[in-house]
Amino acid sequence: MALFAQIPSEDEQRLFEIKSPVSLESIGQIRAASPEEVKAAVGRARKAQQEWARRSFDERAEVLWRVVDQLVERQDEIVDLVVKETGKTLQEAISMEVLAPCMQISHYAKRAKKYLATVTKRPAGVMRFAKKVTLHYQPLGVIGLITPWNGPVALAANPLAQALMAGNAVVHKPSEVTPFSAVLLRDLCVAAGLPEDLYQVLQGDGATGAALVESGVDKVSFTGSVATGRKVGEACGRNLIPVTLELGGKDAMIVCADADLDRAADGAVRGSFFNTGHYCCGTERVYVPEAIYAPFVERVVEMAKPLRQAEQGISDVGAVFWDKQMDIIEDHMRDAQDKGARVLVGGERDRSLSGYFFPPTVVVDVDHSMDLMRRETFGPIVAIQKVRDEEEAVELANDSDYGLSGNVWTSDLDKGGRIGERMVTGSVSVNDISVTYGIPEAPFGGVKESGVGQVNGEVGIRGYCHLHPVIVDTTKKAQGGYPYTEESAAGLRKMVKTVFGNRLLRRLFV
Ligand code: NAD
Repeated sequence: MALFAQIPSEDEQRLFEIKSPVSLESIGQIRAASPEEVKAAVGRARKAQQEWARRSFDERAEVLWRVVDQLVERQDEIVDLVVKETGKTLQEAISMEVLAPCMQISHYAKRAKKYLATVTKRPAGVMRFAKKVTLHYQPLGVIGLITPWNGPVALAANPLAQALMAGNAVVHKPSEVTPFSAVLLRDLCVAAGLPEDLYQVLQGDGATGAALVESGVDKVSFTGSVATGRKVGEACGRNLIPVTLELGGKDAMIVCADADLDRAADGAVRGSFFNTGHYCCGTERVYVPEAIYAPFVERVVEMAKPLRQAEQGISDVGAVFWDKQMDIIEDHMRDAQDKGARVLVGGERDRSLSGYFFPPTVVVDVDHSMDLMRRETFGPIVAIQKVRDEEEAVELANDSDYGLSGNVWTSDLDKGGRIGERMVTGSVSVNDISVTYGIPEAPFGGVKESGVGQVNGEVGIRGYCHLHPVIVDTTKKAQGGYPYTEESAAGLRKMVKTVFGNRLLRRLFV
């Protein structure tokens, strides 16, 4: 049964029905915005942005602080909706979709003023005697925001807060799998006093997302799969607009021989099962030296076995959010088992539950011939590969098309840092699952196929701006220079030789 499916419509409109992955009951319908409607929304956003850009950082922040008030006051409403849309656990809905947005929005409400402060300075070198440079962080205009289904509030609220604090408007196309969370987020923003057209939500599928990229927006902030990211990147290139692409991952966990095994096993379980494994920086591959392999696997199995899944009440691992993801998880498991992988816990869809549930799973005897170790699975699976030593673990961790994040576990923190440095990823954690997205100061973004550009913190919010230098000449006379003569050319040649032919002068000049 498809959880997201087109339904008949009497006119030209494209209507879709969305079902809960837990109850399989309808949770509502959406109508996809047409390309004309997308363009019209961008036009309205552009008008609203002009007034918003004139507001001070403090005025913008005041509205965002009120959005945080709304998130706190209406947290039960948010959690109920997210759980209905995604089937994630209560704890994960609160921590990821309420707590994280509160932290993200507060961070930028408090610090945007500092990150984007106008700076006036004299330039370096001899230019300092003649010029003054003022650097203004100007908003780009209208941001096209396209988001996935695994963190429907968090992955929208974070770029939204940055774009708004930088003085932009946002037109948002949320995932068709979780469309209602974005509507609620917008309601909270409007209730907090955000101007109506400054943040608009347009529903639809990939076609609506593609229309948004083509609609004349000034930048696209995209979070989603590698395949879609490639298309979005191509379209942005054609339209000559900037884009950040936050894409999929296949994060590796390296367990060193000196690691605290209980702590590392707990990290493998949390890193792989959090958000049903639908976490872009979820742990998808675990490399363990043979010296500690058996006790490590034993601990992981002990921790994974008692974890609960349930359609109602408290559970530890939630539903698979989308039927299409269930297909991928099952394909990867089948391929791995055909090639010799052994399942120690879970391993098959739990059909005793009526919704889409894949149990917390532990698999061993895996290797890089398997999709489970090469392609993003995005499911609740700890896949453990035995390696000779830490050196082989680093080689295998880097043997991937992806490079989002990674983690290293050791009791020698310096060594952890050194191994982390060698991992070809956007970021790395030592003795923790990937927490980069949860620390707003830390620039977040993948290398290789995991993305283009970095978001979050100072770097991220500046990405929603054009850094506009205004250069003022502070001398009181004309520079002159015309007419060009043999003598003036000879003078220039001499200056090049005098200044740049001398290592001391060269340093003073620039
Ligand atoms: P997806 O690429 O299928 O869809 C993402 C969004 O793009 C959706 O809103 C979709 O409607 C839209 N879209 C689809 N086709 C489009 C097109 N041609 N032009 C413009 N927009 C289009 O991804 P998904 O399945 O929703 O999300 C899961 C993926 O997101 C995983 O790969 C996961 O790793 C990744 N992800 C990455 C991060 C990160 O920060 N790096 C965070 C969360 C999720």
